[in-house]
Amino acid sequence: MRIDLHTHSSASDGTDTPAALMALAAAAGLDVVGLTDHDTTDGWAAAVAALPAGLTLVRGTEFSTKVQLPDRSVSVHLLGYLFDPTDPAIVAEHRRLVQERLHRGLAIVDLMVADGIPISRSQVLEIAAGAPVGRPHIGRALVQIGRVSSVTEAFDSYLAGRGSYYVPKVDTDLRTAVRLVVAAGGAPVIAHPRGRGEYRALTSALIKDLADIGLAGLEVDHPDHDAAGRAEITELADRFDLVGTGSSDYHGHNKTLQLGEQLTQEKSLLQLISRTSGVNAPIAGPLQ
Ligand code: AMP
Ligand code: FE
Ligand code: FE
Ligand code: ZN
Repeated sequence: MRIDLHTHSSASDGTDTPAALMALAAAAGLDVVGLTDHDTTDGWAAAVAALPAGLTLVRGTEFSTKVQLPDRSVSVHLLGYLFDPTDPAIVAEHRRLVQERLHRGLAIVDLMVADGIPISRSQVLEIAAGAPVGRPHIGRALVQIGRVSSVTEAFDSYLAGRGSYYVPKVDTDLRTAVRLVVAAGGAPVIAHPRGRGEYRALTSALIKDLADIGLAGLEVDHPDHDAAGRAEITELADRFDLVGTGSSDYHGHNKTLQLGEQLTQEKSLLQLISRTSGVNAPIAGPLQ
């Protein structure tokens, strides 16, 4: 079984429509794909409608969360799988995050414009096309005007977290987000816990606390993880009875990685499903 549990469509900051993403997942030989757009479930319906024979869809989202440390706030991404998308608390939090992304995205654009960089608010909103605004959309505007040759190059310079155009947004507290997903019947899994700066916040003590309030898993195999990070997260997952998952974190041509580049084992997916309430089961494509 080829299972890739973390991908993005144009409903957030990927470049393939949800329908195109389902076709690409089948063409990549996947049996199961997780659609986990940032802070929205808007892509789910189009993905379900386009599901090819032989492909199963796990519906989810990737929440932008934060952990407050004494001296700084650390950004952590939380995947929520198979929760009830009509849950009022989740709907309200997604709505807040989308507004937060809009204001913060426009603030970044304004800083660049004030510095003489010829992009515009309307250009970025057109690129986002109704999706929650993310830095990759601004990166594509910078590519359009020829400032950089790729979104990755934009992230290494203009969009960097420590760069002069960085504007923070008010993300959900991580514990709150875990509770939200659990209360909506889903399974919360921390995305790329050793990806960038997360290790400062995601100590074994915090992961134990999160496991106690319902955290279901940790992403182990992710393109941003090195061998030492994978070994460490595998050990933490075993210690706290958490499911280890794997995924590509595919974003279309906003990033250079491929669908199915990293995979989740079948038994891990079954364990994740067993930790949900069953309110939103995986959906299989039509029979062949
Ligand atoms: P934001 O959510 O607006 O803060 O932007 C961060 C998003 O950009 C995350 O979803 C990342 O997957 C994506 N991202 C981060 N680094 C890169 C990169 N080097 N190239 C393309 N996308 C990136
Ligand atoms: Fe993203
Ligand atoms: Fe992420
Ligand atoms: Zn992601």
